[in-house]
Amino acid sequence: MAPTYDIAILGGGLTGLAMAHALPAHWRRNCVLIDSAEAPSDSAVSLAKQPPGLDDRGTALNRRSLDILETWGLMKGLRDQVGEIRHIEVSQQGYWGTADLETGPKEPAFGAVVSNRQLGAALYQGLQSGPAADQPEIRHNSTVADVRFTADRVSLTLEDGDTLSARLLILADGGRSGLGDRLGLTYRQHDYHQVAYTLNLEREYPSDGRAYERFSREGPRALLPLAGHRQTAVWVVPDSLTLHLDHWTKTDWQQALTECFGYAQGRITAVSAASSYPLQFRQVREQARARLAVIGNGALTLHPVAGQGFNLHLRSLHELGEALQATPDPGNAQLLRQWADRVAQDQRQIAQACHGLVSLFGLQPSMVAHARGLGLAALNGLPGVRKILTQRAMGMST
Ligand SMILES: Cc1cc2nc3c(=O)[nH]c(=O)nc-3n(C[C@H](O)[C@H](O)[C@H](O)COP(=O)(O)OP(=O)(O)OC[C@H]3O[C@@H](n4cnc5c(N)ncnc54)[C@H](O)[C@@H]3O)c2cc1C
Repeated sequence: MAPTYDIAILGGGLTGLAMAHALPAHWRRNCVLIDSAEAPSDSAVSLAKQPPGLDDRGTALNRRSLDILETWGLMKGLRDQVGEIRHIEVSQQGYWGTADLETGPKEPAFGAVVSNRQLGAALYQGLQSGPAADQPEIRHNSTVADVRFTADRVSLTLEDGDTLSARLLILADGGRSGLGDRLGLTYRQHDYHQVAYTLNLEREYPSDGRAYERFSREGPRALLPLAGHRQTAVWVVPDSLTLHLDHWTKTDWQQALTECFGYAQGRITAVSAASSYPLQFRQVREQARARLAVIGNGALTLHPVAGQGFNLHLRSLHELGEALQATPDPGNAQLLRQWADRVAQDQRQIAQACHGLVSLFGLQPSMVAHARGLGLAALNGLPGVRKILTQRAMGMST
């Protein structure tokens, strides 16, 4: 007979793994998490076989996300692997004016940056600590090929022919499986015609908690602190330039990064190979229905201009965990729709803010650019606005 579970999580990227942590213990005990790739590990050897989202790119986690990870007991292991953000400098290449956000020495940091690989490994290992009876079942190297719903269950067929069933399917597939379309879900989509390159680098001196965001004519660029002497860079260009950038050598990257961000932490002593990600906005129209909840990039894929995607998903899935606390049936349609309604406003605000930033800084005429520069400069003189920005940067509501 096919095994039966209360909850099946389809996808073991950052959001699928985090979802398993967010579940109330009584549901986690009878939950299965399925991913096509091998189990996450923080060893460099296995990168090619790891879940595709758990690569070496850095993710900036805001204060709220760090608090959530802390409640799951994960920050103890991660503390040495993150680079704290205490100072954020936003500027526009070629124009005067910067916006500086800073936390005092006794205040908490805005957030911290960790590589997806290390975060994924910590989330995965965290699920395996504690008594075996309380752990979810995790199936790696298993691809879900088909999903069928009945009134009281959802059946999953794996590529190897195995089947299993659950009362709730949490789709955390990053939009990679094609199952959303097959389930009749529809999406709002927008192609930015931009590509983000990411790479990590080593500096002469350790990072002092500074993060930089520079808006260039071609797209936004960010440099974020990782632990020790390491930093992670995000470099966005129009997709017409990828033929050129795909051939950049490490020396080309070193030069471009130095020209853009300078020598604040000394010389760049090493750079990793660059990875690239085509950028689009994609949002599912129906995030929940009977026996189905969609989370993570499969529900909403954002432009990484403000590093908000995972932070937002973490808040949404944390709420889903809370919504499931007291219900006798985790697949209850009304409960799931109410959860989707509750998280919709947060998603709308963040999506609009990210899209707005890309549009504003994508405009070319020089008067507009000048006005933006003036706006950035003015922020430094307006404590009320700075407070709002600071709280936003930390993921707190204002
Ligand atoms: C350049 C860049 C920089 C970013 N920086 C930040 C940042 O600083 N801060 C931030 O908050 N966010 C950031 N983000 C966003 C963040 O990376 C994503 O929101 C997050 O990684 C999404 O994870 P996910 O688990 O939803 O999807 P994925 O990582 O795509 O995981 C989906 C998983 O589902 C599995 N899967 C798919 N289909 C099947 C199937 N049929 N059967 C079994 N398994 C399946 C896959 O193997 C995969 O492991 C950034 C994004 C980009 C592109």
